[in-house]
Parts: sequence; C-alpha cells; structure tokens
Amino acid sequence: MSADVVPALPVPRVPVRGGGTFPVHRIYCIGRNFAEHAREMGAAAPASKADRGAPVFFLKPADAVVVDGVVPYPPGTSDLQHEVELVVALGHDAPPGALDADDAMALVFGVGVGLDLTRRDLQSAAKAKGLPWDTGKGFDHSAPVSALVPMADAGDIDTLDLALDVNGEARQHGALSDLIWNVADTLHELSKLYALRAGDLVFMGTPAGVAALRPGDRFRARLGAIATLEGAVVAGPATA
Ligand code: MN
Repeated sequence: MSADVVPALPVPRVPVRGGGTFPVHRIYCIGRNFAEHAREMGAAAPASKADRGAPVFFLKPADAVVVDGVVPYPPGTSDLQHEVELVVALGHDAPPGALDADDAMALVFGVGVGLDLTRRDLQSAAKAKGLPWDTGKGFDHSAPVSALVPMADAGDIDTLDLALDVNGEARQHGALSDLIWNVADTLHELSKLYALRAGDLVFMGTPAGVAALRPGDRFRARLGAIATLEGAVVAGPATA
C-alpha cells in the first residue's frame, strides 16, 4: 500500500434541511440564463427558445462553497458582484451518454439558493480579450449556498421566485419561469459535455440587478418560501 504524500483535504459538505449533509463533487454554473441579465451584461438575449443557441457553462471548485454565510472579500478585485441563483443538487449519477431532458429531474436530490460571486472586473477583462473566465468566477469562497431542501419538500420549483436583499435593500428579483434553460434542459446540455455525478451542484443563472458587494455588507437571498441564505462580506486578505 502506498501512502498519501500530502494530507487529503476534507470533502466540502452542504447541510440538508431535515438532517444529513450533501458532499460536493463539482460545481457547474450556467451563464446568461435570464434575458434581462444577459442584456445588462451587454450580451444579446434570445428572442425565443428556438433562438437560444448553446448555453454558456463554467465551473467553480467544489471547495468554493460557503455554508456559514461568511465571505472574505477576495483578493485581486475591486468589483466583487452578487448573482443570486437557484442551486440544484444531484442525488444520482447520470447514465453514460447524453441524458434525455425528460429523465433529468429524476437525478435531482434537492434545491437551495446561492450566490455566484463574481470578480466582475477580472471577468470583464477576460471577456474583452476572449480569455477564460476562471479567475473571475472560480475563486475561494465564491459559492455561498443555503441548506438544501429535498425535492419531496420543495414543491413545484418552476413557480418559485428568487430574491436578494443587501443591507435590507432589494437588489435582485426574478421568476424561475423566466429561465431560458430550465433545470431539465440544463442537465441535458451538461450531460453532453460532462459525466454528471451524485454530489454535483448546478448554479442556474441570475436575474437582472447584479451589483457590487463591499466588506461589511449583509446579504439575504431567498428561493420562494423554501430556502434562505443569510450572510456577510468580511474584510479579506487584500483589504485587511
Ligand atoms: Mn451566474
């Protein structure tokens, strides 16, 4: 037997409403999934489902999850922005090959609400040069997420809304019925590119109203009446 030459890090885990924890394997994210947000980012929004083209995907490291609501202001940016999003948690591995959209919801364990935190200045610079978004999106503490609600307790998620308040002021609001790619469509598209596994989280895209967060800001994100994420940005290593 061969020993690890460095200590193995613990698997990141998200609490589950009603008990238990959800060990995180990967964090997938879809971009430009609400038309008004696509427009505020300067991108064209599709006129219809038939026009929507291919979805924009990116990933965050699994250990970017934050479950205690405490977000240190990240280094390397002066424009940290919030994106409130539905978070989907997969409870089963997808079968080999592309997953039929009609079979996709059967993979879902539960849902929560999260923030796809973004170093907007770094993302914008990368976009302008046609470079990858990784430093703008996939950084430490960039994925605060609420406790997960099992699907059996979540009801019909298509009827839910998403909302974000910062320091008690409304910043973002959207209806999940306005998703350009719904959960089933998104899992179908992801399955054509990746082997989806139990333990994967999918951040489903943000409605309009993205804006800056500063150290000291308190945030409260809500998914319908079923999930809430409360937390705060604290001074980080670059701003201390
Ligand atoms: Mn996003």
